[in-house]
Amino acid sequence: MSDKKPAGTRTARFPASLEGRAPAPAMTAPGVLRPQRLLHEVAQDAARQVAPRGLGLDSAPVRQRMVQRLRSDGVRCEPVLTAMGHVPRHEFVDTALVAQAYEDTSLPIGLSQTISKPSVVARMIEWLYLGEAARQRGHLGRVLEIGTGCGYQAAVLAHLSTQVISVERLKALHELAARHLHRLQVPRCRLVYGDGMRGHPPNAPYDTIIAAAGGEDLPGSWLDQLAVGGRLVAPARSNDGRGQVLVIVDRTPDGWHRSFGEAVQFVPLKSGTH
Ligand code: SAH
Repeated sequence: MSDKKPAGTRTARFPASLEGRAPAPAMTAPGVLRPQRLLHEVAQDAARQVAPRGLGLDSAPVRQRMVQRLRSDGVRCEPVLTAMGHVPRHEFVDTALVAQAYEDTSLPIGLSQTISKPSVVARMIEWLYLGEAARQRGHLGRVLEIGTGCGYQAAVLAHLSTQVISVERLKALHELAARHLHRLQVPRCRLVYGDGMRGHPPNAPYDTIIAAAGGEDLPGSWLDQLAVGGRLVAPARSNDGRGQVLVIVDRTPDGWHRSFGEAVQFVPLKSGTH
């Protein structure tokens, strides 16, 4: 991220410590949070018998079991858990993968991209919720999502916000997500085909910004388009040698305050459209 301040601001303090700001919820798991999952771990999950005998693999009780597991893994934010209990993740994946839809695993959505693990989706949205303004309002306000993918996370965000603007650089995925969200009649979501590295100026400023792809640094446009009082959560390279981490940026009247969350491994943020 460029530490260059947009005009009209006073100070930017980087990095701000995590302590003394939003209370950090318990870590969902030690070590690196991977939106993608190793195959042997997927097999372990399958062995945990997510679906009890007699239940359809795509049924609401199976989804509730996923929510229970998120809760026991440390996700504390009830609105996030409720939203994830509502969104039918199996509707966003290929029919051949429906049986795995509620395991804590990433799944292929085509074009070498993946739908993120439920625990990573929950954790990132929880970080957004812990921002000052979102905590006070009780919702995420107007959200900018970078990396629509299949539209699953956008659908979860739609339950928690007044409007979701979601940008995807791959046309085929943009269209796939549009089909999913239309079929499920997800409200308050506007999908944009374009290069999310530029954010989406027409609807700025955003109360919350979330990215599902990570680069070396945060594009300056995202910082510019974050409202004062808003919070951004995105993967980016840490400056302490930990590799890619979740970066949390709070914008106050004083400027931008950056803190760091868990180590993560996201797909690369790429420029241009395809
Ligand atoms: N949240 C998604 C997961 C998306 S995976 C879901 O629920 O399915 C990350 C996505 O980011 C990919 O679809 C990839 O194409 C997209 N992406 C990467 N760089 C981008 C950019 N500059 N602008 C918009 N999307 C981008």
